[in-house]
Order: sequence, then C-alpha cells, then structure tokens
Amino acid sequence: MAKEKIRKDTWQARHTCTHCEIPMEKKKIIIEGIEIRGWECSKCKETVLHSEDAQKMLFLNKLKRGIKVKIGELGQSLIIRFPKEVVDFYKIKKGEDLTLRAEDMKRIELVPA
Ligand SMILES: [Zn+2]
Repeated sequence: MAKEKIRKDTWQARHTCTHCEIPMEKKKIIIEGIEIRGWECSKCKETVLHSEDAQKMLFLNKLKRGIKVKIGELGQSLIIRFPKEVVDFYKIKKGEDLTLRAEDMKRIELVPA
C-alpha cells in the first residue's frame, strides 16, 4: 500500500531539463520492447527515465541472459524455486497456474496464465 503511493509520487514528480532549464514532458519510451516511463525535454530531446522502470529493464536484461534456480522436492514431485525478484517482476502468486511449454528437448518455457 505504502509502496504504491511512492510509485505514484515519483511519476507525479516534475523534472526540469538541466541544459535548457525548462519543464520536461512526460513520455512513454519503448526500449527493447518494454514501455518505460520517462520525461523528455521538448527542446534538446534529453530524456530522464523513471528509476523504477529503468530497474525493471535492467532486471529483464538479466533474465534474458538467464539466472539459475534451484530444484527442490515436494513429495513425489520436483519443484522450482522462484527467486523473490522474479516473483515480483511477473507478479506470480502461490496457487496460480503457469503453463509449461516445451521449446525442444533442452528448453522449457513457463508462461504466466
Ligand atoms: Zn533541454
């Protein structure tokens, strides 16, 4: 709840271009297929990225390179442990369904339902 408030406040913040000293305009910037909120100077086109969105982009780049996850055991089944940052990123919740799809014999894809 408190986190949500901070997020809104950050996006409501006003930015002034450090070169032109004029207010920057809010803008959605697409970087590598991800929509990033930011501010752009209408004069010199300088942009400032929303820090939280920029963090998301960095994390997605990390995920694209691959992160290691541990396989655990639960009764007769094996379970995958999702790191907290992955849980937060994909907003995965306990009890939710994920679709497991085969790419080939060496690759498995998990798709949030
Ligand atoms: Zn400027």
